[in-house]
Amino acid sequence: METKILPVLSNTIFPKKARRIFKDGQEQILAGYVLDSILIKQKPKDAVVLMGITEKDLFPKPEWNYVFGQASYEDGVGVTSMYRFSDGHLSDSNFNESLERLIKISSHEIGHMFGISHCLNAVCVMNGTNSLPETDFHFARACSLCQQKLNSSLSYDPRKRLQDLKHFFEKQHLNIELSRAEQDLSLLK
Ligand SMILES: [Zn+2]
Ligand SMILES: [Zn+2]
Repeated sequence: METKILPVLSNTIFPKKARRIFKDGQEQILAGYVLDSILIKQKPKDAVVLMGITEKDLFPKPEWNYVFGQASYEDGVGVTSMYRFSDGHLSDSNFNESLERLIKISSHEIGHMFGISHCLNAVCVMNGTNSLPETDFHFARACSLCQQKLNSSLSYDPRKRLQDLKHFFEKQHLNIELSRAEQDLSLLK
């Protein structure tokens, strides 16, 4: 599908009632507020889904410590926080690791927006995650069952999708995911 990048929004759009200071001192934003009060208003009329990415740490409800991302199945909006992916210090040495984590969490939330719920396959990108070791253990791709679910809701060309993914991973030097995309492609042949 065609992807468009919308203009950046300022962190000043989060009101006081959607913010809190967490125990280690950093500010967190209520994820549900981002979905229900910000992204839903930003979503273009002809958009299928809208994915928000923030540098701010997110929390899902008062009794929870944090959340990497959250999405609404009904409204087709989702948000991912980059805050925990690089320990607050993005550098050349951890850039690819952070990018991989961002791709995995955002793909997971986008999967929800296309109606896919959590998967029991331990390495599938639609398997739930509550910690970075768990996220790192996941592949940046959906298992074959989840790919079939995605295909039944979108009816795309699987070969073209895998080729596009392969080029993306190649360009970003994500070599492990590149070899998985190549493996998938060879299975299709
Ligand atoms: Zn999930
Ligand atoms: Zn799966």
